[in-house]
Amino acid sequence: MSQFDVAIAGAGLTGLSLAAALRDSGLSIALIDPRAPTRRSFGLTPERDGTELASTVPPRVSAINQRSMNFLRRIASMPEHAAPYTRMRVWDQLGSAQMTFDAADAGVEALGYIVPNDAVSSVLVEALDGAESARFHAHEITSCGRQDQSMRVGFEHGDPLLADLVIGADGGNSAVRQMVGMRPLQRDDGQAALVTTLLLDRSLAATASQCFTEVGPLALLPVSTAHPELASIVWSAPAAEIERLLALAPDEFCQAVTYCIADEVGEVLACDQRFSFPLRRQFTPQFVKPGVVLAGDAAHAIHPLGGQGVNLGFADVEKLVELINAELLAGHAPGDGRWLRDYVFDRAPHNIAVATVMEAFNLLYGQSNPALIFLRNRGMRITDSLPLLKMQIARLASGMF
Ligand SMILES: Cc1cc2nc3c(=O)[nH]c(=O)nc-3n(C[C@H](O)[C@H](O)[C@H](O)COP(=O)(O)OP(=O)(O)OC[C@H]3O[C@@H](n4cnc5c(N)ncnc54)[C@H](O)[C@@H]3O)c2cc1C
Repeated sequence: MSQFDVAIAGAGLTGLSLAAALRDSGLSIALIDPRAPTRRSFGLTPERDGTELASTVPPRVSAINQRSMNFLRRIASMPEHAAPYTRMRVWDQLGSAQMTFDAADAGVEALGYIVPNDAVSSVLVEALDGAESARFHAHEITSCGRQDQSMRVGFEHGDPLLADLVIGADGGNSAVRQMVGMRPLQRDDGQAALVTTLLLDRSLAATASQCFTEVGPLALLPVSTAHPELASIVWSAPAAEIERLLALAPDEFCQAVTYCIADEVGEVLACDQRFSFPLRRQFTPQFVKPGVVLAGDAAHAIHPLGGQGVNLGFADVEKLVELINAELLAGHAPGDGRWLRDYVFDRAPHNIAVATVMEAFNLLYGQSNPALIFLRNRGMRITDSLPLLKMQIARLASGMF
């Protein structure tokens, strides 16, 4: 049976970045996923036919904050089509207040970058090209448990392998988490997210916007510097509402979005194909055990309204790599030890805090009670008038705190 120092379950953005960051550590690494990550190169060209848009913008894009981008540049390179945003604007459709945050407030060149997920995977795959320490295994993990001093990872087809440490980066439905008996706390209130690309009648001017609409939060992300009138959107709402929005004809959908954003952002001229994803929100209180740790969505999946999910995953990876390298320097194998506790102490408070803030915003802005609408608009006005508070929020959003 092959023996590895580290087995990484899942080659999503968390697992891939972990493998890339550990590639020069001297550890032997097995990266396991049934779907092989690939390198893709693409243009972001919009072609319009009436209210229908055929853009080549992939449906899944992420707001990668400045801190995560610095991390990606250290372990790989700047992803293709990373469109910087220097401003964030938040407003309530049921009120007249708004808040804006600028990169200059946080003393950074950009608050973050809007990047297609495939472009991030591509630079990580490239960084792993030719790395002899990391081997990719195209398998689905079907069992994971202790065997003597090691962890035994089994597959439906093919020989199992042994590893000193298994890192579960296999997403919100983590098989590793289940197999080793770690139980997540879950919140499922039937929410889903609609994603697509829009063509607007004006430039987004490098501003990432969040409108709290009557049905749920709508994010408009400037996805291309070459085409600043293209917005990638994430609209979260109850699943039945998302079904309704998916069923609208393109011109009706453009009108529905225009109705929410016209005063702040402009008119929607055309929309691309729409996709939806169920929203999972969960946190696993116990995310380490001897020989196993969880990272990324396997440990915590949060509401996408603040665009923080994968940023938390990258921060998990940064910490894991720092602690594992320190263990190696001290002459210890990474499978066990006090560092697991240090990982929990470092990551749990931060991950819980971010998830709680996202839930609080989602709850507060999901209310149609006039008194609450008045109070939240007042709160926004007050926040927008306090430069020191705005600086703190801008620093939090950029990850540079
Ligand atoms: C609509 C939407 C918009 C979002 N926007 C943002 C944003 O703007 N900014 C941001 O920071 N975050 C955002 N997020 C969150 C972000 O997408 C996730 O946090 C991130 O993709 C999680 O990455 P991951 O690698 O941890 O998990 P995943 O991407 O789920 O990857 C898990 C991997 O594990 C593999 N796997 C699963 N089971 C097994 C098994 N049994 N054996 C082996 N492999 C397995 C899967 O094939 C997959 O490749 C958004 C989420 C949604 C739904």
